[in-house]
Amino acid sequence: MRVFVIANQKGGVGKTTTTINLASALASKGKKVLTIDLDPQGNLSSGLGYDRQANIEKPSIYDVLVSNKNLSEVFVTTSNPNLFLVPANLSLAGAEIEMVNLLARESILKNAINKFQEKIDYVFIDCPPSLGLLTINALTAANFIIIPIQCEYFALEGLGQLLQTKELVSNVNPQLDIGGVILTMFDSRTKLSTQVASEVRNYFPEKLFKTAIPRNVRLSEAPSYGQDIFEYDSNSTGAKAYSDLAKEFLKRFN
Ligand code: ATP
Ligand code: MG
Repeated sequence: MRVFVIANQKGGVGKTTTTINLASALASKGKKVLTIDLDPQGNLSSGLGYDRQANIEKPSIYDVLVSNKNLSEVFVTTSNPNLFLVPANLSLAGAEIEMVNLLARESILKNAINKFQEKIDYVFIDCPPSLGLLTINALTAANFIIIPIQCEYFALEGLGQLLQTKELVSNVNPQLDIGGVILTMFDSRTKLSTQVASEVRNYFPEKLFKTAIPRNVRLSEAPSYGQDIFEYDSNSTGAKAYSDLAKEFLKRFN
């Protein structure tokens, strides 16, 4: 079982979209995948069809972080038989403050994942756009960081900070490595996209995935139906891109 954290402290760069669709693509290719929603916004949960309103009283990642519940008591199934979700609800917003006084507070998620007995190939943790205790827990628990970068001005701002945080975390998690960098919302017609792409390639020559995710409106529509892109529109350019990305991912991490 390998643990991936999808992180970028910049907001709206495609972390959650990538978590949903990469995880779904891998699950469709037969891998057992557990996704963990570590963002109080809960976009991963709703994007995978989890009804946050109806399940407001049900256990969630909050109970794992703050009340010592096991992941096995909290995860739910999704429409894809190989894909599982540890959901988040609004209570998670308070977790960061409540965890401050807990023992080994940066390792709570790591310990929970280590205790998890189900047979899982990949764990994907979707992070909030900040570098607080939730993200630190994810970085501590993970083997690899996957960094989505939106092809726009200032894309590399914040990346420096993320890498600094990775260095900080190296005290508790010295093995943490960069698993890959993904260009998102790529538009080959704009000079800006190609510029950002070449900058990122120079910065991470070995880490950049060849598959760039294009800007595709179908990708932004799918979550409001609680569907991944393959359920929502399997012929879209977004579906093709995430399927290609999954193939590339499997070459790297099979
Ligand atoms: P946050 O930091 O708030 O958690 P995020 O990094 O998880 O954001 P997403 O929620 O995945 O980013 O994407 C931000 C917005 O852009 C969403 O509305 C999403 O639907 C849209 N989006 C993401 N990727 C694409 C794409 N390739 N083409 C078009 N729209 C996209
Ligand atoms: Mg998100």
